[in-house]
Amino acid sequence: MHQPPLPHLASTDPEIADLVEGEARRQFEKLRMIPSENYVSTAVLEASASVLTNKYSEGYPGRRYYEGQQFIDPIERLAIQRATDLFGVDHANVQPYSGSVANLAVYLAFLSPGDTVMGMALPMGGHLTHGWSVSVTGKWFRAVQYGVRADTGTVDFDEVRDLARRERPKVIYCGGTAIPRVIDFASFAEIAREVGAVLVADVAHISGLIAGGAHPSPVGHAGVIVTTTHKTLRGPRGAMIMCDSEHAAAIDKAVFPGLQGGPHDHTTAGIAVALKEAATPEFRAYAHQVVANSRALAAALTERGYSLVSGGSDNHLILMDLTPQEIGGKPAARALDRAGIEVNYNTVPFDTRKPFDPSGIRIGTPSITTRGLAEQHMPQVAAWMDEAIRAAAKDDEQIIERVAGEVRDLLAGFPMPGFVPQS
Ligand SMILES: *Cc1c(COP(=O)(O)O)cnc(C)c1O
Repeated sequence: MHQPPLPHLASTDPEIADLVEGEARRQFEKLRMIPSENYVSTAVLEASASVLTNKYSEGYPGRRYYEGQQFIDPIERLAIQRATDLFGVDHANVQPYSGSVANLAVYLAFLSPGDTVMGMALPMGGHLTHGWSVSVTGKWFRAVQYGVRADTGTVDFDEVRDLARRERPKVIYCGGTAIPRVIDFASFAEIAREVGAVLVADVAHISGLIAGGAHPSPVGHAGVIVTTTHKTLRGPRGAMIMCDSEHAAAIDKAVFPGLQGGPHDHTTAGIAVALKEAATPEFRAYAHQVVANSRALAAALTERGYSLVSGGSDNHLILMDLTPQEIGGKPAARALDRAGIEVNYNTVPFDTRKPFDPSGIRIGTPSITTRGLAEQHMPQVAAWMDEAIRAAAKDDEQIIERVAGEVRDLLAGFPMPGFVPQS
């Protein structure tokens, strides 16, 4: 049963209630290994589903355009204070509706249409909003894109420096969505300084690891830091922009009134709760366990003959190239899903297949670590993945069903916030 329970929803709209209950059970029974996903705590769920959703509060604490902010202002102030304390930054804006919107606010703060932005190309591991062609950021701005080296699978800083010197971007993005290794913020900062660009670290995927001390921090290197709040940080769907004091006014003005209307106060409260949780010793242990699990899983997959981009993982994410197995990422991901293991198909650097039918899958350990799985479980997880991928290649649904049952049995022993199995 969903936790907290949903009796009013069940009586008003049983159709939606049943679907929400179905999703809660699905999240309980599956190894959720999409690296951008997680489980929030029941406390975060309660804050996010509260009456705060009824309020309008355009503006910032103490400077609102609507009355009745006696409780909203302290909530947003707490969220801001906790963000600046946790990450050690001068300033935080906790209002962006999502990571994509936060990035648009950054463009609005520092660029005009047609200005040059530099980011990692989407097929190389970057995000759409770092200037990829189909995104508004690639259409309305002049985007130049760097990638990774074919032999190492990691960023080539000579290439980044040459490109930056030649193209003179006003903003340089580092970070992305399919980067399995530590990001070298200092090297990006040196290049940004040399060409006079604002360095923006988009740490959406790894902000929980940074908060928990399991990945180096961009603070002191990047003048602007963007993060979602719902990935490794384990908060509600939302985003934050953190920055040096010199950029604070520009960022705040860009978020509101530049881009957004009223902030989602229920989300702000959920973010505040998540930031409080992320400051605990338990969260530090969690962040380190995410990385330990990813390393152990990468080693177990390598042992089974799988090819990993960059040869391994330093964070929460593994990018696997299935070319040697002669199966596409999409059929593999579909078979894994039927086997109770949820991943997403993904392009790999220099992919020879099409974006909608790429060669790789992207695997992450944030969610299964929240459930309590540790290194000793990773060889079994790798064995199940291997079985399901091989079974997909020879169309053996029986094996896939057996694996799904075994996954369910294992996970029955690991509690999930937001769901209690009925006895
Ligand atoms: C997830 C992600 C985003 C976008 O966040 P949304 O909340 O989905 O809009 C932006 N940048 C990076 C690097 C991401 O991983």
